[in-house]
Amino acid sequence: MSNLLKKVGGEGLTPIGQIGVPALIERITSQGVHRQASTRLGVGDDAARILSLTNEECVVTTDLMVEGVHFDTTYFPLMHLGYKVVVAGISDVVAMNAVPRQILLALAISAKYTVEAIEELYKGVHAACAEYGVDLVGGDVTSSTGGLTLSITAIGSAPAERMVGRSGARKGELICVSGDLGAAFMGLNLLEREKRIYREDPGIQPDFGAYEYLLQRQIRPAARIDMAAVFDRLGCLPTALIDLSSGLGRDIAALCRASGVGCRLYEDRIPIDPLVHELATHFHIDPTLCALSGGEDYELLFTLPASVSEKLEGHPDISMVGYITEAEDGLVLVSHSGQEHELHRRMYTPEVQ
Ligand SMILES: [Mg+2]
Repeated sequence: MSNLLKKVGGEGLTPIGQIGVPALIERITSQGVHRQASTRLGVGDDAARILSLTNEECVVTTDLMVEGVHFDTTYFPLMHLGYKVVVAGISDVVAMNAVPRQILLALAISAKYTVEAIEELYKGVHAACAEYGVDLVGGDVTSSTGGLTLSITAIGSAPAERMVGRSGARKGELICVSGDLGAAFMGLNLLEREKRIYREDPGIQPDFGAYEYLLQRQIRPAARIDMAAVFDRLGCLPTALIDLSSGLGRDIAALCRASGVGCRLYEDRIPIDPLVHELATHFHIDPTLCALSGGEDYELLFTLPASVSEKLEGHPDISMVGYITEAEDGLVLVSHSGQEHELHRRMYTPEVQ
């Protein structure tokens, strides 16, 4: 993490204008290999060619990340940013229970970014493509008058009967999440604290020590591509599925709205890592709020028939956090003390004190 607070430009580095955009594109895409049989033609022509798979449907999703809104390059390493934007795209494909196959990445870059900085970003893009077995098949690079903007498009496919949307949740079903929540948000708080310290004394290098897990959850998130096999082993597909990019509070609200149902969540069932508890206490933040409002965990939120509840007891990948109710019952959070709260009242953005 020694390069964490490194500047994006600097002496000895190459301005993009010196080599031009076509040469830059050549540099950042030349290492692209094709892993998917459906990729017939990738980067290099006016458009990519993708083979239509028999008996499968395609899913296509796009996401935008804007400097100063979604990330801060003073502490977010460019390689990790490239990795994360690919994960964000793949996570949306996984959230349809489809298999990610190809991505396209478009960038708008301001003059402060050098050739080396963009190459660093693409190291992360290619690393994520290799990790998830997807092909980079296109994109665009153009200049920007302010900062860096990344637009990721991800393509996936699956047989129609395996796809799961947000709208299938029904009363009495179990609300479940994969993994643990709130760690990415605590990782962000940690980075922002280090940025303040660095501004006061650039000689001090960040030391994340015991909190490395939280940092990793923020700068190197994982898309839950493995959950499709977990559902297969359970013997049933979710009735509704969404990825946790905006926080449990907003994402369960989106799922319930799409399904026309309400929910009852139990605070003591929300999986939160002990490190999140520890650091949240230190920062005077309510750990539950990190899970509800933090976002960027890229875990999955889904509903399952009540008949599988026994199989979920002590499950290593899945936590039951509540159940689906009727729409008129609203969105309810039952607190540790047993009190009922309207969910949205517990969903403000926590502040570091
Ligand atoms: Mg999503």
